[in-house]
Amino acid sequence: MKRVLLKLSGEALAGDKKTGFDEATCIGVANQVKKLVDDGIQVAIVTGGGNFWRGRTSETIDRTKADQIGMLATVMNCIYVSDIFRHVGMKTEIFTPFTCGAFTSLFSKDAALEALERGKVIFFAGGTGHPYFSTDTGAVLRAIEIEADAMLLAKAIDGIYDSDPKVNPDAKKYDEISIQDVIDQQLAAVDLAASILCLENKMPMLVFGLNEPNSIVETMSGTFTGTKVTV
Ligand code: UDP
Repeated sequence: MKRVLLKLSGEALAGDKKTGFDEATCIGVANQVKKLVDDGIQVAIVTGGGNFWRGRTSETIDRTKADQIGMLATVMNCIYVSDIFRHVGMKTEIFTPFTCGAFTSLFSKDAALEALERGKVIFFAGGTGHPYFSTDTGAVLRAIEIEADAMLLAKAIDGIYDSDPKVNPDAKKYDEISIQDVIDQQLAAVDLAASILCLENKMPMLVFGLNEPNSIVETMSGTFTGTKVTV
């Protein structure tokens, strides 16, 4: 694989704190991504926003406004993680689907590909720019647009199971499963809109645990222990 999109859940960025940023976790991610970049792999990143805010959990304010706050949470996450990446020696650029003044660059496919060709790690913040979507959907959309070879899904859990392993101690982890089966069995890998985009546009996914040691590098170097989602 020469070009990948790595989706980091907001929850994973928070580590054990569950909210905000866990610096050690983010530095660990940055050091792993640097190894990929040093090996000539082009990397794009999408972060979730759940470590700050989730639009659908607000019962009081209007959903569109709540989702706008969620999208801005992902911008904060990308500004933080991007600067941690710079701290460990990478060049970065953040793209958003709406203008954020001088904070980010406005997304276009051409600008994103040019930044990758220049050796930058690129961040797609702000999701799709629309309410009622998730960063999972934004991540698949951008992976398709930049013609990534696969989407790497780094989660708090180490793969896709046939039932919730936190609830069912006998839950079985899949080594490989088709995206059609993920949809049919309603397995919680990515949300339905994101799954359907993957299916229609043949974007494979590799789902693994962010907390497993060296998991991002190992996913790329062939010793993959998560779940491969085929298309
Ligand atoms: N969001 C949105 N549109 C998008 C992407 C994200 O409105 O295209 C908002 C939504 O409110 C979501 C929040 O941003 O809850 C954080 O994104 P994430 O996908 O991480 O939400 P989570 O999966 O953690 O609920």
